[in-house]
Amino acid sequence: MLNQALEGKRFLVTGVANQRSIAWGIAQCLAKCGARLGFTYQGARIKEMVTPLAESVSADFLLPCDVADDDQIDALFEGVGNTWDGLDGIVHAIAFAKREDLAGEFVSTSRDGFALAHDISAYSLTRLCQGGLDLMREGSSVVALSYIGGERVVPGYNVMGVAKASLEMSVRYLAADLGPRGIRVNAISAGPVKTLAARGVSGFTKILDHVEERAPLRRNVSLEEIGCSASFLLSSLASGVTGEVMHVDSGFHVLGF
Ligand code: NAD
Repeated sequence: MLNQALEGKRFLVTGVANQRSIAWGIAQCLAKCGARLGFTYQGARIKEMVTPLAESVSADFLLPCDVADDDQIDALFEGVGNTWDGLDGIVHAIAFAKREDLAGEFVSTSRDGFALAHDISAYSLTRLCQGGLDLMREGSSVVALSYIGGERVVPGYNVMGVAKASLEMSVRYLAADLGPRGIRVNAISAGPVKTLAARGVSGFTKILDHVEERAPLRRNVSLEEIGCSASFLLSSLASGVTGEVMHVDSGFHVLGF
């Protein structure tokens, strides 16, 4: 059924850095279901890693996009519009904070570290929706990636947790704004996955171990599981779901103790 719902749909996938990226897990599931994909990359180093991955799923394009740069975002959507006459959805899988703000005490966060984390990790969702608005049509769907550190305190996650809270609230406001146009906006709050970005969070291995020991399913989630859940939200099977933050975390979020 998921195959039928996604066959031929066109999705812009941001945030693939390598084969361990959550965005790559999502792209693989979308590709298996027959969706058409276009990717973005931030900088030449990432382009080198993403090019073979994009080729392996016969992507329609690979375009640069640093979300800190409005001109690059405008150029991206111009490029998307040159290839496709519409867009069925966007995957937002982007986050960044200074390394020193992902360790120690949150109280030490600098003004520019706070602003940077929010600009790249939260505002960029709104800016990408803004940029893609003219291409998206009734039935389009946007999915962002969040983490439980945006709801509860996770040691070391610090400013990124505050940025994720902003991202999740942005999802709700965007869902309210874009709903009347038939565009849905949701987030997946994923359990921890060993990716490039995750390596920046101090004590990340402890987080993985803790989930394995305590989560209801007693294991961590796979890229494939996150990919399938995101694909569901991107598809018409989730046509009644918007403004939602869906946890794909082995049930870890239900624990109170
Ligand atoms: P990743 O390192 O594979 O991906 C992060 C991506 O963000 C990279 O592709 C990087 O190029 C991109 N990025 C950073 N700054 C950017 C900028 N200025 N412009 C454009 N792109 C930029 O790591 P990931 O864990 O797959 O992260 C993807 C998303 O999933 C992030 O939002 C992250 O917070 C979220 N997430 C991760 C975990 C986890 O444990 N790994 C858990 C829950 C949510």
